[in-house]
Amino acid sequence: MSEWCQNKRCPQKKNQNQIRGSKGAKYYQSNKASGYYEHWCSMGCRESWFQEHKETCMNAVGFIDKQILPLDDAWFVDFYYSWRDSNGDGGYYLINKLKGIKRAIPRQQAQTPEDIAEDRTWTTIDETQAKELAVQLGLAS
Ligand SMILES: [Zn+2]
Repeated sequence: MSEWCQNKRCPQKKNQNQIRGSKGAKYYQSNKASGYYEHWCSMGCRESWFQEHKETCMNAVGFIDKQILPLDDAWFVDFYYSWRDSNGDGGYYLINKLKGIKRAIPRQQAQTPEDIAEDRTWTTIDETQAKELAVQLGLAS
């Protein structure tokens, strides 16, 4: 690990905050790596690093073939604002587009107790929980 941005061209950004040294011997230095970007200072530096090293990364991780999400695993829960819903009523839905199912469900089924306690509106249970709910409601086995 390093505290410095991993893009070797980071100093070439030539930002004011990167200037160090005394008159006549000034230079630009890398930014520190920041929390959100982990090993880089910014999205631009991360992208620059990735463009240079993507072949190395892919060879290290390995390539994969086409992935498939089958019918029975395609459940999810979504929140629709009324303006986004074709019926005009909004709310929470258990959905499986591959099965052609969009079933209105109460908030208690659509969200975790934490979501409800925190009064978040648009967060919903994850896809594994959505599948379990579909089984409970007799929509899947
Ligand atoms: Zn950088």
